[in-house]
Amino acid sequence: MQPFSYKKAGIADNAVALVAPDAQASYLAGGTSLIDLMKLNVQTPKELVDINSLALTKIEMQGNGVRIGAMARNSHVAYDAMIRKRYPVLSEALLSGASPQLRNMASVGGNLLQRTRCYYFRDTSMPCNKRVPGSGCPAIEGYNRIHAILGGSDRCIATHPSDMAVAMVALDAVVQTRGPNGARSIPLVDFHLVPGNTPERETVLQHGELIVAVDLPASTFAWRSHYLKVRDRASYAFATASVAAALDIQNGIIRSARIALGGVGTKPWRAYEAEKALVNKQPNQATFQAAALAAIRGAKPQKYNAFKVELAKRTIVKALATVGGMA
Ligand SMILES: Cc1cc2nc3c(=O)[nH]c(=O)nc-3n(C[C@H](O)[C@H](O)[C@H](O)COP(=O)(O)OP(=O)(O)OC[C@H]3O[C@@H](n4cnc5c(N)ncnc54)[C@H](O)[C@@H]3O)c2cc1C
Repeated sequence: MQPFSYKKAGIADNAVALVAPDAQASYLAGGTSLIDLMKLNVQTPKELVDINSLALTKIEMQGNGVRIGAMARNSHVAYDAMIRKRYPVLSEALLSGASPQLRNMASVGGNLLQRTRCYYFRDTSMPCNKRVPGSGCPAIEGYNRIHAILGGSDRCIATHPSDMAVAMVALDAVVQTRGPNGARSIPLVDFHLVPGNTPERETVLQHGELIVAVDLPASTFAWRSHYLKVRDRASYAFATASVAAALDIQNGIIRSARIALGGVGTKPWRAYEAEKALVNKQPNQATFQAAALAAIRGAKPQKYNAFKVELAKRTIVKALATVGGMA
């Protein structure tokens, strides 16, 4: 690991002032992602600014919705009574991720900014357009079983690994930031970027911009929601395919729907076409199958991940059947 210096920030403005002017500086939250990548020399900041003392840990009502501080730990959010009752999909997504020890350290801000688990990205002896722009993408012709079928480009097909972000995208979450140019509110669905020609740019954050909170608006659908994660092991494994599903059903008709996918997209994937296929329909197998087909329309599978097309469809149908009370 490259040597680095360490500072602790006490307030958000101080943290921004320390990181923003220095391209070699980085925030340190729970460290569960960053320190791993520093040990692998994938990330090599020269200065870490520890934000664990910032007063950003609260989960509180904000209007009719909920504001979650960026330093709230994943386990704290998952077990919060208000989150469990009003946004069960978020609690389930968090509890499906990592291990209890990791969830106790992992923060909301850090979870949104975790990097891909693509093995070529994490191995500095390999080329990778995300790590070294212009060096190539061995995953496209190589072993791509864990890679994306949605949102890829000829430069990168790495998946975004977060479970929490998939649930939050389905919940219309909004990221609140503070940076050298002031405060911003960014809808989470616009926060992560598809790779296109610039896979090294993963989010719309500017260097030094600090995530301070994530807002979950009030909704009619979130109460009836579910996160279904399919993975190679029953626990402690990233998603091969996952679905965050939410339905507002009134008088036997779906009034509004949310579907987001994990494990199959280059960013937490909101499936708008699937949602359209559900609204004003009766909740039944035929409706759910149509939604699943719409969700993966345009998928571009590779040699070793073609199985994800069928897997994603089945996972969507099962998640919807569970939410609709038919599983
Ligand atoms: C073995 C293992 C298994 C895992 N399994 C899963 C899984 O199944 N599902 C899943 O979703 N995740 C999984 N994870 C990932 C884990 O959820 C993330 O490592 C964690 O959420 C990152 O949070 P952190 O607070 O530790 O971030 P850190 O490692 O401290 O930071 C990550 C990045 O975010 C930046 N950052 C952190 N906070 C802020 C902020 N407030 N503002 C701006 N920048 C910030 C840091 O500078 C850094 O670049 C796993 C991790 C490990 C090690």
